[in-house]
Amino acid sequence: MDTAKDEFNIPNVIVDPRTRTQYSKGKFLGKGGFARCYELIDTTSGQTFAGKVVPKSMLVKPHQKEKMQQEVTIHQSLNHKHIVQFFSYFEDENNVYIILELCRRRSLMELHRRRKTVTEPETRYFVKQIVEACIYLHEKRIIHRDLKLGNLFLNDQMEIKIGDFGLATRVESESDRKRTLCGTPNYIAPEVINKKGHSYEVDVWSMGCILYTLLLGKPPFETSSLKDTYSKIRKNDYLIPENRISREVVLLIQRCLRHEPYDRPTMQQIYMDPFFTGFIPATLPTSVCTVAPRYS
Ligand code: ADP
Repeated sequence: MDTAKDEFNIPNVIVDPRTRTQYSKGKFLGKGGFARCYELIDTTSGQTFAGKVVPKSMLVKPHQKEKMQQEVTIHQSLNHKHIVQFFSYFEDENNVYIILELCRRRSLMELHRRRKTVTEPETRYFVKQIVEACIYLHEKRIIHRDLKLGNLFLNDQMEIKIGDFGLATRVESESDRKRTLCGTPNYIAPEVINKKGHSYEVDVWSMGCILYTLLLGKPPFETSSLKDTYSKIRKNDYLIPENRISREVVLLIQRCLRHEPYDRPTMQQIYMDPFFTGFIPATLPTSVCTVAPRYS
């Protein structure tokens, strides 16, 4: 067996001891706070996966281990068309490995960077899939808490797959309001900043920010410093430029971005919103990663 390792102590051949599946390490996909991600190829079937590799040296403090365990426990329990599928979790002497569904077309972050703004039909196409996954999550009493363009992955069919459950949590009862959140969500809701107790409505707030960013090219509360951004969020200080987007979507964004969590729609209500009665393409070509589609 090949036991060669790279400079990060990641073997070129990785074996899942539970299923005895053997993977050869392929292309580097990206890195996050803790993890390095590689394409992994099942040497028997040729099937490809994404392998998230976390060095154990990053998981020395008890709360780091706990957070990782929480992420795995939650992600493992999920099975939905628009959520990155979790396949396996194992470790060797040096690393922890998470085997995930491969999303070859990066994320909405890269698409947004290249395109700046996307059309309303594309937005309906993407956001409908995100909302379907969130209805499923909220029904299972899970709050993602960090919905952002970079966690909305895309496969070769240009289907959305929600990933990264690093900040996710499970709601214990209907009256359970979460008091703490370890980490800095990108599209943070005012009740999280104000430590007022938060729940499912934080994901709806993020949906409002995602809609705004996709359609208008920049986030609603953007400033050059985190402190100023938080201050704007607390004051609900944002503007929607007139005449650039449809009346229906302006109303939807405004409802998602209401300061008071209980005034926001649920994911079910977003799904039924008039915005989604407009044209929705059945599929999108991969060319939309770089250029706008033409609907004629
Ligand atoms: P962390 O939790 O440490 O931030 P991420 O989950 O963000 O790690 O993964 C790091 C990078 O790996 C991502 O930015 C992305 O480029 C890539 N990546 C993660 N999951 C997948 C996947 N399922 N398919 C393809 N690439 C992925």
